[in-house]
Amino acid sequence: MHHAIATVSLSGTLRQKVEAIAAAGFNGIELFEPDLLGFRDSPHVLRRLCADLGLSIDLYQPFRDFEGLPAEALPKALSRAERKFDLMQALGIPMVLVCSNVSPLALPEPERAAEQLRLLAERAASRGLRVGYEALAWGHHVNRWRQAWERVVLADHPALGLVLDSFHTLALDDDHEGIAALPGERIFFVQMADALRLRLDVIEWARHHRNFPGQGQLDVVGFFANAWRAGYAGPLSLEVFNDVFRESPNRRIAVDARRSLLWLESQLRVTMANDLLAEAAPSRVLFAPAPLPALRGWSFVEFAVDAQTRPLLDDMLRRLGFGAPRRHRSKPVWLYRQGDIRLVVNEGSHGLAREHLASHGPSVCAIALRCSDAAAARDRAVSLRSAPFDTAAGPGEAVLPSVVTPGGTVLHFVDEHLGEEGLFDADFAVADDSDGDETGIGLNAIDHLAMALAPDRVDTWVLFCRAILGLDAGESQKFADPHGLLRSFGLTGRDHGLRLLLSVSMSARTATAQAVNAGSGAVVQRIALQCDDVVASVAAARAAGVDFLPVPTNWYDDLEARLDLTPAFVDRLREHDVMFDRDARGDWLHACTRSPVGGVVFEFVQRGGGYAGFGLVNAPMQLAVRADFGPEPG
Ligand code: MG
Repeated sequence: MHHAIATVSLSGTLRQKVEAIAAAGFNGIELFEPDLLGFRDSPHVLRRLCADLGLSIDLYQPFRDFEGLPAEALPKALSRAERKFDLMQALGIPMVLVCSNVSPLALPEPERAAEQLRLLAERAASRGLRVGYEALAWGHHVNRWRQAWERVVLADHPALGLVLDSFHTLALDDDHEGIAALPGERIFFVQMADALRLRLDVIEWARHHRNFPGQGQLDVVGFFANAWRAGYAGPLSLEVFNDVFRESPNRRIAVDARRSLLWLESQLRVTMANDLLAEAAPSRVLFAPAPLPALRGWSFVEFAVDAQTRPLLDDMLRRLGFGAPRRHRSKPVWLYRQGDIRLVVNEGSHGLAREHLASHGPSVCAIALRCSDAAAARDRAVSLRSAPFDTAAGPGEAVLPSVVTPGGTVLHFVDEHLGEEGLFDADFAVADDSDGDETGIGLNAIDHLAMALAPDRVDTWVLFCRAILGLDAGESQKFADPHGLLRSFGLTGRDHGLRLLLSVSMSARTATAQAVNAGSGAVVQRIALQCDDVVASVAAARAAGVDFLPVPTNWYDDLEARLDLTPAFVDRLREHDVMFDRDARGDWLHACTRSPVGGVVFEFVQRGGGYAGFGLVNAPMQLAVRADFGPEPG
């Protein structure tokens, strides 16, 4: 479909905005009037700029407070419209958006509004222009799409049609099924926005907290499906007012925006009957990415470290039961294994690791997912606007299909049939100081990675995880760190093969915020490792000299009372600083190493039954204990 975006959705000057919009692959824009008012060159220059960038200007918006006026106010309103029509003709814009009147002067009769809209449409038609009428959720007499449609029908002019905006309908929980029965050619324009469900005044919510489809919690797919079922063949456009987007780099936000429309189309395609899809006119053909291959968990995690950090990380991993590493045949890179866990430590002398080290310091530089078809997973990600990452492989080295995540960490896809031999044996020699088969301390697999994000990365990551990895939003909580508020949310694959926990700090003073500031907006903070018996694994690691985060006895007293656990069981947890949670499906036991090494702490987790969460209920206590060890924030 034809993809457009309102210029209000991005940061920058109008010229910077249209350049970012074109670079992200959009076909057109909605010109937001205040952006034009601040443009220093003539409308003709803007028209030529957009044409040079391959962008049409599909809509001029908004034209406010027009319909339902007292008779004496109409002539002035019409002459105001004529001035806008002059401008639209100079810019080559075919349609104006009239949003429902919010003035207390507006009168309620539908016939009056319809007659005035008909007059406006007549004037527009005489210049070859069209008028789209939109119900604002806070319109004085018109705040539902059905009311706007009623006035369009009463006006009965071919140059007047309906503008649908998903936010204004979904924010009011208004029914949108009826849209499917409208004549599609009478829907002149569709604007899409998503949002988190917030208990806010609707104007406040609309003007500051909308986001792109796939970043929120509204039924944007169902809404757009109804417009599509009606036969709508016009632009698929975004109109998003978001305070964070308006201060974020517009190139990144424009990529998110475009990805959101591709995701929306792909989701719609899943819900549509095949016969409808087969009949679709060229302007209604929906984006069809390759199916998402099955993702089967984490294959490996790679650290970029400097010469000072490597011995510390090596020492920690050996104490955690990883044994002697295998060394890469030609590079200062080491491979540590235990169970299905693979950790690669790269001393940052070349390529990706060197660049990562220079800009982020010692930390995780790449993550790898095991999947049923790695090349298809990469191609699908690239079709959804992810940047491919091409490694320069040495002779005999495995080349992995890869993309760059929004924070710059590289994401590799690893074919599950590649196995250990195919992935590592060609590159890594057998450990020279191996003391036979390492037995480990019972750590089996990577359960999840926990990442800290800068506040302006959250929407980007949620959409990335949803669109590229097919993850669904799960457990989510806000909680207090001693130095500010944090929000964490879990994302889980449909078959539970993949889990990721994202956290963002609202305050600059928390350790989470400071970890992010040192990197580039997204950093792996914790690697959670599954084991069958967390108490035994903790005891073994502790015997090898690993320090675990101490858990206050106050917390255990509360736990015993809260979950009605036996004193003997709680004493066993207390003795080993093991934390506990329980949901309807199962139990969760976990313990965390005390100090970060290589940018991360290691968490031992035991996921009993079908426990689906991440133990977020225990996060405030852990953050408080960590803050006690850490320096006072400035
Ligand atoms: Mg709108």
